Amino acid sequence: MALKFEADIRRDAVCAACGTGYYYFHSVEVNGDDREKFDAKVRKAVEEGVGVAPCPACGELNPEMKAAHGKALQGHLIGIAVSLAILAFGWLMLEEGLLLYILLPVGGLSLLGYLGATIAWMFEPKTNRKHSIIPGRESEASDKAREKLAAWQARTP
Ligand SMILES: [Zn+2]
Repeated sequence: MALKFEADIRRDAVCAACGTGYYYFHSVEVNGDDREKFDAKVRKAVEEGVGVAPCPACGELNPEMKAAHGKALQGHLIGIAVSLAILAFGWLMLEEGLLLYILLPVGGLSLLGYLGATIAWMFEPKTNRKHSIIPGRESEASDKAREKLAAWQARTP
């Protein structure tokens, strides 16, 4: 059975560039099949994960956030490469039977998805800035960030 863990983790950060303290909600998603490995994966993601959350004061990303951002691109690029391979295989096998026509739409949709993710990735450092919150200045954060804060407050006694 496929296992799935999803949560918004509240993380504190101090901007390395301007020293502003802030916090943000990091959407953590872990998928797996192996129960034993899954728990360790979830613990690691919750305890050590880092989001791409620019400083709300100056817009800079901390070094560990830049690293996390770069790592996310790797995943998107691998996805693009796999989609292209599926498309190429589907194209080569075009005459082999109707079933293989499935490879072309599947590869095409997958390619579009990863291209979209890559475009979103480029803007992430800019668009995420308003999701970061300076303590006491919650009203300046985005609606999405305030929704996550309200949900977090509701489940934290
Ligand atoms: Zn800053």
